[in-house]
Amino acid sequence: MKIHIANPTGLCFGVRRAISELEEELSRSNTIYSLGSPIHNPQEIERLSKMGLIVVGSAEEVPSGSVAFIRAHGVTPLEADIVKKKCIKVVDGTCPFVKTAQNRAKDLSSEGYVVVISGDRKHPEVRGIMGYVQGEVAVISAGEDIPDNLKGRKCGILSQTTQKVASLAALVSSFVTVSTEIKVYNTICKATLARQDSVCRLASKVDGMIILGGRNSANTKKLAEISIDVGVSTLWVEHSGELDRGWLQNKDDIGIAAGGSTPDWLIKELIQNLNMM
Ligand code: SF4
Repeated sequence: MKIHIANPTGLCFGVRRAISELEEELSRSNTIYSLGSPIHNPQEIERLSKMGLIVVGSAEEVPSGSVAFIRAHGVTPLEADIVKKKCIKVVDGTCPFVKTAQNRAKDLSSEGYVVVISGDRKHPEVRGIMGYVQGEVAVISAGEDIPDNLKGRKCGILSQTTQKVASLAALVSSFVTVSTEIKVYNTICKATLARQDSVCRLASKVDGMIILGGRNSANTKKLAEISIDVGVSTLWVEHSGELDRGWLQNKDDIGIAAGGSTPDWLIKELIQNLNMM
């Protein structure tokens, strides 16, 4: 069996930066409270929790006088203000690509556009971006139709950073048929585009693709969808313990791709286990 690794793959710039900021702060403070999960990988969260990370669900749950961490996917301006007022220190791990999307949303709403976000309305990044909009905002997920109340309106479109390019392109082309004025910002991050492209190229050359990453990771989910769309047999695992011997049978070339929140140690562990099978 030959193993091929997608290139690039694994930790993206934004998550690598967030983890190193967290680790640096954890070496100084015994406990850090993170507003929501700092990255979408349960195994990495478990490792950081042993070092003193505590994940809380809302700004109200962060104790006064503590050190707080803002996750790579960002938070709403309101949540950021609450923690800034009550904490002795706030480490802002918001990825610069997410900050760009937040600023674009703010600019579009101040220019009078109805802000339309291509993405998943339940995702924390999208909820954070929505918080920057002062006027009307709508979220449209892949495959959904444009609601009637947005037809003929002046809409400013942007994307959740981890969306598939095809989803944004399809949404923009639908708006072209029902609008007289739209403004579009492609806020899909470069790391996401490069990882999606590498999966697409590798999936067409192998007998099976293993996608490694948290089940709560939006960008890992997109990689698995892309691999399935290419038509190759695809196995999505969170860690090497979930490898399936039966799935590996009769496959000579195996491709591996990891989501942008999958740490290097989980990729190494997966390769080691595959080599022993
Ligand atoms: S996937 Fe992109 S936007 Fe999200 S943290 Fe990584 S680099 Fe930043």
